[in-house]
Amino acid sequence: MFEKVLIANRGEIALRIHRACKEMGIKTVAVHSTADADAMHVRLADESVCIGPPSSALSYLNITAILSAATITGVDAIHPGIGFLSENAKFAEMIEEHGFTFIGPTPEHISMMGDKITARSEAMKLGIPCVPGSDGAVEDINEAIELANGIGYPVIMKATAGGGGKGMQVAYSADEIPGKLSLCRTEAKAAFGNDDVYIEKYLGQPRHIEVQVLGDGQGNVVHLGERDCSLQRRHQKVLEEAPSPALNAEARAKIGKIVTDALSKIKYRSAGTIEFLYENGEFYFIEMNTRLQVEHPISEMICNIDLVREQLRVATGAPLGYGQEAIKMSGHSIECRINAEHPETFIPSPGRITDYHAPGGLGVRVDSAIYSGYAVPPYYDSLIAKLIVHGSTRNECLMRLRRALEEFVVGGVNTTIPLHQKLISDPDFLNGDYDIHWLEKWMGEE
Ligand code: ADP
Repeated sequence: MFEKVLIANRGEIALRIHRACKEMGIKTVAVHSTADADAMHVRLADESVCIGPPSSALSYLNITAILSAATITGVDAIHPGIGFLSENAKFAEMIEEHGFTFIGPTPEHISMMGDKITARSEAMKLGIPCVPGSDGAVEDINEAIELANGIGYPVIMKATAGGGGKGMQVAYSADEIPGKLSLCRTEAKAAFGNDDVYIEKYLGQPRHIEVQVLGDGQGNVVHLGERDCSLQRRHQKVLEEAPSPALNAEARAKIGKIVTDALSKIKYRSAGTIEFLYENGEFYFIEMNTRLQVEHPISEMICNIDLVREQLRVATGAPLGYGQEAIKMSGHSIECRINAEHPETFIPSPGRITDYHAPGGLGVRVDSAIYSGYAVPPYYDSLIAKLIVHGSTRNECLMRLRRALEEFVVGGVNTTIPLHQKLISDPDFLNGDYDIHWLEKWMGEE
């Protein structure tokens, strides 16, 4: 096992990785920007290195600074966490070139799933069903209209380099194609520096269902069931649950097998997630994330598996050591993403936390790096805590979640706690009756 690991991230996920390392007797090195000098991940790590100013481009995305920190502190391996450099194949490659181990998949697999056009064609080759759409990037307006006419309206134009819900435009008729295509390209160029766009069918009432996988790079791959992430605002997930209220055991086994067969063919290593839209009993691939995801804890809760621990273990070259039959799913889990934002306007609310009380008790987990007196910096993502609850049934989980949200106190900044309280009381949500558009309609935004 590794002796020392550098965690190339910040916030709750840096702490999450630190905790798994500690339990395995591994020393940790935190890296941080000047804005994060007081952060909990820095305080708890065995060592820490400042890697630059607040701007993430100059700190958490600064490969040279991170590799220098790894060299100075003499670590064995680097965990990239979520976001930042976690899906940067070049970073993974450079880590290996410098003699460290990258805790994640191979650079080839990261590239394969990195841009959406390549991912789509790789998924099709691996026998994973995709949304009907174009084979590659669209060249011009005429081609786009021809393709869209063939697919049938509405269609969605998506930036191949897209992520975080950016770079997507829906067209309801041929007339809308020129304007929406140009908007999509402009947004993609500005956000990702790449204006390649492709077209696929826009599904009317799908759910977002994703399958968590874990592989050892030797052909052994298991899945940890699915997560339902249909509750989204502006294509961003707000609350996730596992298992999905919309899947039965048969559908779960079917998609699980498609995914594990595909990934064992390529000998996938580490944790990964394949995202699907699910409509009328059919699954349609939308993308694969070759990293840990924000909502990974709900899969951990129902499967009783520590995904970060498994990532660390397989990164050393160890085989998984168990097959699909060893994965026993039990009960129900829900995660609420708690952001430092106004619960109605979603305006970010950075600032000092004056009071903090996290809920606890049976089946309640809080993944957070905040504390009383901590100042939420304005430079990064507004996620400040994840409340994860487990119950033996969905109903028990919901009752527990309700009381945990009531107990949760975060003073001094606005948070989305009131939004979650309202949301989990809604009859549609209680019935598990929602699709990817439901939340925006419910909030009166659609
Ligand atoms: P990103 O990488 O930006 O997260 P995704 O491809 O994962 O983009 O899509 C994010 C969300 O956008 C999906 O969960 C879904 O809500 C919506 N979406 C994407 N593709 C389609 C589609 N073909 N039809 C309907 N909604 C879609």
